[in-house]
Amino acid sequence: MGSRKRSAQQKKIAEFRAQLGGLDDLYGRERRSQDRLSERREAARRERGCERKQRYATRMDALEAIALCAEHGTRGLSCYRCEYCHGWHLTSHPRPQGR
Ligand SMILES: [Zn+2]
Repeated sequence: MGSRKRSAQQKKIAEFRAQLGGLDDLYGRERRSQDRLSERREAARRERGCERKQRYATRMDALEAIALCAEHGTRGLSCYRCEYCHGWHLTSHPRPQGR
């Protein structure tokens, strides 16, 4: 008898936990949607900073391209190591080094 009483209590606890779990899931969903938002931002950043750009395998290649551009009148370019593809890209907006 005692065990039946206890199992009823356990059922109640389980229901209570399920409610809590439901709340957790609500917060979890909120977090996940924020994750998706930052993923989208990250993807846009990656597209701007990496995928749309010409990729150079080495710094030398990038510097050669910069020299070539300078010969054709495009000055003020610099190159940076890409954090996404680990190649090199050119930019007309130099970023602070040492990242
Ligand atoms: Zn890249």
